[in-house]
Amino acid sequence: MQFQPVFNTQKRPVLIAGPCSAETEEQVLAAAHGLKSFQPDLFRAGIWKPRTRPGAFEGIGVPGLAWLRRVKEETGMKTTTEVATGQHVYECLKYGVDVFWIGARTTVNPFSVQEIADAMAGTDIPVIVKNPVNPDYKLWVGAIERLYKAGLRRIAAIHRGFSTYGDSKYRNVPRWQMAIDLIEEFPGLEVICDISHICGRRDILAETAQKAYDLNFDGLMVEVHPTPDSAWSDASQQITPEQFGQMTAGLIRRQMTSQDPDYLQTIENYRQQIDEVDEEIIHLIAQRMQMVREIGYVKKDKNIAIFQPERWRALVEACRRRAEKNELSNDFINLFLEAIHQEGITQQERVMNDGVPALSLPVDDLWIND
Ligand code: PEP
Ligand code: MN
Repeated sequence: MQFQPVFNTQKRPVLIAGPCSAETEEQVLAAAHGLKSFQPDLFRAGIWKPRTRPGAFEGIGVPGLAWLRRVKEETGMKTTTEVATGQHVYECLKYGVDVFWIGARTTVNPFSVQEIADAMAGTDIPVIVKNPVNPDYKLWVGAIERLYKAGLRRIAAIHRGFSTYGDSKYRNVPRWQMAIDLIEEFPGLEVICDISHICGRRDILAETAQKAYDLNFDGLMVEVHPTPDSAWSDASQQITPEQFGQMTAGLIRRQMTSQDPDYLQTIENYRQQIDEVDEEIIHLIAQRMQMVREIGYVKKDKNIAIFQPERWRALVEACRRRAEKNELSNDFINLFLEAIHQEGITQQERVMNDGVPALSLPVDDLWIND
């Protein structure tokens, strides 16, 4: 897919800011005028609000679109809102909304995404696709593909985290890797980080924004309200225009690279060492798997089960202790061990069930240097 930019500016990161919901004309205009001097690239406000449970404020609907038009007339800022149905698309087109976004609860539903894509076909309106509420990468990409197939090219993505059950510091856990995968797979696609819906609270917005900058996102979406505590939706995560200005001014934008010869030399030295270590790691893992296959062969002979919970528990404990001493995070070592275990089981299954011989060559003869 060959995307065209949603944001007509070289400036990075871009900023999208505005209230969670358009509540009243005064509130929308106060937010917009408060934000104007910080020059966000887009002014956001939700007109139709998909609420998790009924009874909450479900959005002002069509009258709010006239308020967005006033924002544009009075401040010159371009506007964006969420569309969830074909009807929303028609209404937004009528009122001249500049950019549409598809919310997390809509991205999960291919019928809805298709309806929006069909309604937008033939227009040149930019559209930004939030990730689905659940961490399903293909669903996110699939929504982007539906819009692309409808002929739209000005498409971007928003990472807003994923819902989770149980305690977390975040309202929606970021699982950054999924956004990183998207950025890597689609180089021309602008990816924005919606820190407000990831955090769900004000006190960790700035650190999360910095993280997004460090990961080279193209921009931020931030919920900004003139009086956040009295917001009709998402009160606890909204900030004032002044707080928005302070927060964004305090963020450090990292360069992609530098031409400084010392920097280039140092980086090059470390990269060479890392390449050597990586080669060694793969070699060691191959060696380990070779031993695992040998055990599979012995187990097959004596008809012993592949999975030995006690042995595995002891190994995990020992590795975790060692990892902790070496300042490796618990999350990392758990993921690593899980992958090692999974591969070990697969290798033993092949020996025991598919009759693959446990090669008894020394591992150095197996090792193929590239
Ligand atoms: C929003 O942006 O206000 C919103 C409802 O977001 P999400 O779709 O990410 O929950
Ligand atoms: Mn919101």
